[in-house]
Amino acid sequence: MEFSSEWAKSQDEKDELRDFRNHFHLPQHDGKPCVYFTGNSLGLQPKTTVASIQQELDDWARFGVEGHFLAKNPWVSYHELFSEGTANLVGAKPEEVVVMNQLTSNLHFLMVSFYRPNAMRYKILCEAKAFPSDQYALQSQLKFHGHDSATSLLELHSRPGEHHLRTDDILNAIHEHRDELALVMIGGVNYLSGQVFEMEKITRAAHEAGAICGWDLAHAAGNVELKLHDWNVDFACWCSYKYLNSGPGSVAGAFVHERHLNTTDLPLFAGWWGHDKQERFKMDSTFRPMKTAERWQLSNAPVLSMAAYKASLEIFQQAGMKRLTSKSKRLTAYLDFILQELNAVQTPDKKFEIITPKDARGCQLSVVAYGRGKEMYNALMENGVIVDWREPNVIRMAPVPLYNSFEDVFRFGQIIQSIC
Ligand SMILES: *Cc1c(COP(=O)(O)O)cnc(C)c1O
Repeated sequence: MEFSSEWAKSQDEKDELRDFRNHFHLPQHDGKPCVYFTGNSLGLQPKTTVASIQQELDDWARFGVEGHFLAKNPWVSYHELFSEGTANLVGAKPEEVVVMNQLTSNLHFLMVSFYRPNAMRYKILCEAKAFPSDQYALQSQLKFHGHDSATSLLELHSRPGEHHLRTDDILNAIHEHRDELALVMIGGVNYLSGQVFEMEKITRAAHEAGAICGWDLAHAAGNVELKLHDWNVDFACWCSYKYLNSGPGSVAGAFVHERHLNTTDLPLFAGWWGHDKQERFKMDSTFRPMKTAERWQLSNAPVLSMAAYKASLEIFQQAGMKRLTSKSKRLTAYLDFILQELNAVQTPDKKFEIITPKDARGCQLSVVAYGRGKEMYNALMENGVIVDWREPNVIRMAPVPLYNSFEDVFRFGQIIQSIC
């Protein structure tokens, strides 16, 4: 690797995914595309999004209510258009996934089915510094079931001086609490540190302890390769506006493992879109649950928001997670390399520390710039580099393989060098 424009350009020329950048609108700064490293927060808009939404607006104008059946993509089965693509994204069977609601709502709805504490088993294990919405969701579920989160929510901290959790520490904690643990619920990729957890091992340990294992994949879906079915994950959910580019607040996804789909005795909060679709319009008052993850749907599909997601999912289908993660590794390694190059010429008090573990990362790098993080963040933003700042001192940067280039990473390096 070389910290040079020529080297970056040569990598872009070799990159078989390079044309996907042209499928997206890149925010501009001083007439040039920004270096957009916040696809982990809000993915960019595909150029095909407008036409995808326009299709549904036109069909609505043309058919009114009849669009449910007569639209080009009939709304009554609109969510089915996502099964295959979503299954490919997360390593599931099509019947194990569904696109519905939003992330925190899905977390709650799935916990209705999968967090069922009893007098012996009621504790939930999660990572300390989980995304706040997840913490609130877990605390409120505990409270709803009459448990005190101060004693029933086990939050795993990293060891002093470390920024990530060791897998062995997680496995040991699960084992230690094996008699009381009802649920292990962790973010597949931690939003702050960027650590990718060993989902297969942790899921297995949770099962050995007699607990259910669920994953919040907000920072994993579209970022790292997942094999939810093979890993035997019980349930998972994720949002689609981060790496999946579906637009602000757009519809989310959920996974329920096949082995839970044939039992009909799971408690759930039901709605008519979870009812057997052959019988749905008979308007019968007895709920007959579907034998797919669609069972957890409550309402009919938010088609306009889903139309945006559809445009992006089609791009993912073309690019494929294998090729994306392969490019992602090289792109993030280049960013890592450039930060180390810059570190080499800094005085010790001005070095960056990358807190994302090298052997367990997706595209995001989280960086602590001691004492001058905010200053550095502001300077980057003023120079057309969009990264994000998380209190108290972390700058997160995520070169996304779909639309970021090696040249972006080089330009980032150049700008940060001039700031230093
Ligand atoms: C982004 C994110 C959320 C946001 O929740 P919404 O319900 O989509 O607003 C929740 N949890 C995690 C881990 C996230 O990364």
